[in-house]
Amino acid sequence: MLDAPGRVLREAEVPDPVPQAGQVLLRVRACGVCRTDLHVLDGELPDPKLPLVLGHQIVGVAEDGRRLGVPWLGWTDGDCRYCTSGRENLCDHALFTGYQLDGGYAELAVADERFCLPIPEGYGDEEAAPLLCAGLIGYRSLRLAGDAERLGLYGFGASAHIVAQVARHQGRRVFAFTKPGDTTGQTFARELGAEWAGGSDAQPPEELDAAILFAPAGELVTVALAALAKGGTAVCAGIHMSDIPSFPYELLWGERQVRSVANLTRADGEEFLRIAPQVPVRTQVETFPLAAANEALELLRAGHIHGAAVLAVS
Ligand SMILES: [Zn+2]
Ligand SMILES: [Zn+2]
Repeated sequence: MLDAPGRVLREAEVPDPVPQAGQVLLRVRACGVCRTDLHVLDGELPDPKLPLVLGHQIVGVAEDGRRLGVPWLGWTDGDCRYCTSGRENLCDHALFTGYQLDGGYAELAVADERFCLPIPEGYGDEEAAPLLCAGLIGYRSLRLAGDAERLGLYGFGASAHIVAQVARHQGRRVFAFTKPGDTTGQTFARELGAEWAGGSDAQPPEELDAAILFAPAGELVTVALAALAKGGTAVCAGIHMSDIPSFPYELLWGERQVRSVANLTRADGEEFLRIAPQVPVRTQVETFPLAAANEALELLRAGHIHGAAVLAVS
């Protein structure tokens, strides 16, 4: 339970959540730990529900035995100009799991059934959890990178380790950027198909056609722009980023673009979960018991997780 931004999570015994009309009650099996959880914890996202149960990569079992995934997008109004034009990810009144709705760092959770996703067979609960945000948002980012052949991934964490596999499957070439000096991360990236891996302070051996930025560091936007070929796109995949430093127009000239990716649509979720077993995406997870949620978050913050951190609940 998060009582207020800036506090550590507190173990709490609370009444069982009661599903309202249209909601499903889930016994949580596993919940992925995402960088967005840290942004909520640190107060970098405004007005969270308080007190709050974090977690928006929930794998749970419904009372009828179905295994369902609960992603970040928890509810939309269905009738704003965004929802009615296939862009529910931008809904004016969207509610997000583990932010404005209680999430999955818990034994039980309720979720609007319309926003739950079926978990593909062949994935264990813990292996499936990172597909629900790291995978989904990563996949949407990859799509918005267009048909780029030479793809740079800045920040090789939970999302990038999944995106690299999908990108290779699509025949793209992957260039991975880690924190300078993180040779373990660079080796991990090469194992997942990156043909080159280096620190974010290094120049790739070739120009890139697109770059996806997973690290929440604004200065990487200018670094990535400088590595892009003409017509290339830099996609910012995170929900929060430090300020982007000013830069000469020359870096943007040549029809380069900078854009963000916000949230996901249900269609993204269904598409990605159909593709993941075909690749097949293999997630590397480091599991923690629910009671060690604070430890998992701090290891993620420190960059000590290779792959994805997951809370194994039951
Ligand atoms: Zn809407
Ligand atoms: Zn997330």
